Amino acid sequence: MSERAAPFYCPYCGDEDLRPSEQGHGAWECAACNRAFQLKFLGLLARGLQQDHGGAEI
Ligand SMILES: [Zn+2]
Repeated sequence: MSERAAPFYCPYCGDEDLRPSEQGHGAWECAACNRAFQLKFLGLLARGLQQDHGGAEI
């Protein structure tokens, strides 16, 4: 379902030079910091898709 989820930035160094890893589904490699990481879909939150701005009133 969510196999095409792609990160835009490395979660460790913030670089955009990411490429898919051959280590498995959702695995990515960062060419900037040489880290490999994996994205995993954990499930939907109970509260759904509502946006909560943390009490900041518009
Ligand atoms: Zn990185």
